[in-house]
Amino acid sequence: MRIAIVGAGSIGLAVAWRAAQSGAEVVVHDPDPGSGASRVAAGMIAPVTESHYGEEALGPFMAASADAWPGFARALEAASGLDVDFRDVPTLVVGVEDGDRAEIDRQAELYRLTARNVEPLTARAARKVEPLLSHKVRGGVLAPEDRAVDPRVVHDALLIAAERAGVGLRTESVEDLAALDADQVVIAAGCGSANFSGTGASASMGSEPGDAGAGKRGTRVSGAEFEPRAALASGAVSEAGGEHSGTGERSERGTDAEARGESPGAAARVGGSGDPDARWSLPVRAVRGAVLRLRAVGDQPLPRTTVRGFVKGHPIYIVTRESGEVVVGASSDERGFDRRTGTAGAVHDLLRRAIELVPEIAEYHLDEVSVGFRPGTPDNLPLIGRLDPRTIAATGHYRNGIALIPATASAVAALLAGNERAVPAAFDPRRFEGAGRPSGSRFASAPESMVTAGSDTAGGSRLDRGLSVTDDISTQEADS
Ligand SMILES: Cc1cc2nc3c(=O)[nH]c(=O)nc-3n(C[C@H](O)[C@H](O)[C@H](O)COP(=O)(O)OP(=O)(O)OC[C@H]3O[C@@H](n4cnc5c(N)ncnc54)[C@H](O)[C@@H]3O)c2cc1C
Repeated sequence: MRIAIVGAGSIGLAVAWRAAQSGAEVVVHDPDPGSGASRVAAGMIAPVTESHYGEEALGPFMAASADAWPGFARALEAASGLDVDFRDVPTLVVGVEDGDRAEIDRQAELYRLTARNVEPLTARAARKVEPLLSHKVRGGVLAPEDRAVDPRVVHDALLIAAERAGVGLRTESVEDLAALDADQVVIAAGCGSANFSGTGASASMGSEPGDAGAGKRGTRVSGAEFEPRAALASGAVSEAGGEHSGTGERSERGTDAEARGESPGAAARVGGSGDPDARWSLPVRAVRGAVLRLRAVGDQPLPRTTVRGFVKGHPIYIVTRESGEVVVGASSDERGFDRRTGTAGAVHDLLRRAIELVPEIAEYHLDEVSVGFRPGTPDNLPLIGRLDPRTIAATGHYRNGIALIPATASAVAALLAGNERAVPAAFDPRRFEGAGRPSGSRFASAPESMVTAGSDTAGGSRLDRGLSVTDDISTQEADS
């Protein structure tokens, strides 16, 4: 089977790697791999502290993905030779005022519905777990099963693993799905996925400045353009549009589009099946977020846990890496694709709140401010499933795209293998289409099994048993 994947963020690459491992001939298309949210993210894998009122349908999928992460990380490290810094350290959620403490108690009710370990902590007990906590902290809860990974190394490792598995990478923007020379097409273009909404005519979305470099300073793989192994042998895959020479240069079209301030593929066309009547809508919107990357110098002490909290009602998190990097995040707003404005205020707020929880942060070196765009959907659930017999969506992962890498790769692998019941109906990418259409597309129905690997604890969740949890989600929008 020949598979074209649109988007070389971590979701697209993980899908590609998995598909190539099962023998498919895979080509990933992206004008600038790693320019999306995947290299900005903090890297929390947090089925407990990322559970939110109104998003209960995500719980079992998050749980399954979190459980799959240790094995996924080991496999990725073996395939790439990189250490992805999978950290099995607990997460603390703490507050500094009575109102913050009350908010944590409210959240803890929801955390407990995950059927995972959640322990209440007094202030003294919290400081015992995390000695760097401020004396202002009023206690909170401990979530020992939430973890973290370094998302930049994960992206690098996926590029290497995919290449070694025979995946081809074309540094070009996809504008017309019907023109892709493939039996199956997977849309994994993050915020760019909305470009593939429409009715076969040109469709466009907001603008993105040409600054696509944020978050790409890590251990980046250079010259990452490679041919699919099967295609090299057979000569079967052509240079789409003839504009890419394998030099790693960005396409003419992509560069021009960026110069115009458009997002990659801003003139993308739908019609993945080649059917002029094909139509779908992928309502992915960009939710902007800034994070800070700091670094402990010399023998400065580092937090030994992931610290999350509320400071005067505002959420904040501090994620520490083995390397001494400390990530503080995150702001959340919706101002289109603007990486440049509002960063001074975001830096000020994030630092002030982080220092209130962990005063030592003030002593660290500020390495980087990066801004990314979470691919959000109207109900905050991802869009994973069939759009038509040739086209699959794997996008809209919003705040949890790193956590959901393993489950998404497994779900798409199952779809590609013909198991249309592999994905929860709640993620049906066509669920937002016009009234009268039943929820659950003509291609997807109730899930049979959500992921094929590592989902052994998901069935134990109270959320999984269909407990209805509804509340205002707006209070939780800003935390990852
Ligand atoms: C500040 C911040 C903090 C976050 N923290 C966390 C966290 O702690 N844990 C967590 O799980 N998640 C976190 N996230 C969310 C996570 O980063 C995203 O959900 C995830 O990275 C989405 O991955 P993706 O591969 O779908 O999209 P992206 O990484 O955005 O990649 C999309 C790719 O598609 C390409 N593309 C777009 N249009 C086209 C086209 N027409 N043709 C070809 N290619 C195209 C782009 O160039 C890009 O490379 C965070 C996000 C932000 C912004």
